[in-house]
Amino acid sequence: MYAFNYHKPATVAEAATLAGKHADGKLLAGGMTLLPTMKQRLASPSDIIDLSKLGDLRGIEVKDGVVTIKALTRHVTVANSAEVKKAIPALAELAGMIGDPAVRNRGTIGGSVANNDPAADYPAACLALGATIHTNKRSIPADDFFVGLFETALGEGEIITSISFPVPDKANYQKFRNPASRYAIVGVFVAKKGADVSVAVTGAGDSGVFRQKDFEAALKSNFSAAALDGKSQSAAGLNSDIHADAEYRAHLIGVMAKRAVAAAK
Ligand SMILES: Cc1cc2nc3c(=O)[nH]c(=O)nc-3n(C[C@H](O)[C@H](O)[C@H](O)COP(=O)(O)OP(=O)(O)OC[C@H]3O[C@@H](n4cnc5c(N)ncnc54)[C@H](O)[C@@H]3O)c2cc1C
Repeated sequence: MYAFNYHKPATVAEAATLAGKHADGKLLAGGMTLLPTMKQRLASPSDIIDLSKLGDLRGIEVKDGVVTIKALTRHVTVANSAEVKKAIPALAELAGMIGDPAVRNRGTIGGSVANNDPAADYPAACLALGATIHTNKRSIPADDFFVGLFETALGEGEIITSISFPVPDKANYQKFRNPASRYAIVGVFVAKKGADVSVAVTGAGDSGVFRQKDFEAALKSNFSAAALDGKSQSAAGLNSDIHADAEYRAHLIGVMAKRAVAAAK
């Protein structure tokens, strides 16, 4: 690891000022992604701005049909939250599928969404549920937030403060995981709200998470696994790696989408 300056601000405003002042600095949340990349010398931030003192950025609220999860809330907290389990059981289940207990005990929803790993789970929930990502500067709809591989609409030093998820009528997340890393080889989140259906796919796209609009159209007229019979995902634009080639991932997207529709509640 290279040397860096360490800061522990007491307020979001102070963190934002530090982030603005140190263009090569990095915000630190759970550290589950940032610290390994620093240890491997793949990242060498000049300054680390540790958010851990910002108690305002922790907690979950369910109000007026919206679940709002503050950015520093850990995966384990979401997985175990009685409020989330009641309002959006699929979201609690998703959080419980992230990594292993050590990762879930440190990793945060804000860090996961800001990192936008192409195999991360939360981005699929954000897209399918029509979430809004709130920052210290603005509110960004999920459809505009995830820009590409490890890329988001966040500006330099912009801090995610919370994420709000409208409660759907039904939803489910199905993950075909890498048995070693536990990241998604393919993950499909399906959500139904009124006449609207969203299907978001993670782990597969070469530009990261995406919506499967053909599946959405089929499910809007008939929300059943059978509605996806004969529908297929093209392998074009999907990742191939040692774990799964693009054709296999395309096949898995169809399988996981059907399972998610059948299990949606
Ligand atoms: C072994 C292992 C297995 C894993 N398996 C999975 C998995 O199955 N599914 C999955 O989804 N993830 C998985 N992860 C990743 C995990 O979910 C991390 O928690 C997540 O990627 C990053 O969250 P963090 O809080 O640790 O962020 P950090 O590592 O602290 O930060 C990550 C990035 O986000 C930025 N950032 C952090 N917080 C904010 C904020 N509030 N506003 C703006 N920017 C911010 C940081 O500057 C940094 O660039 C795994 C990680 C490991 C190490």
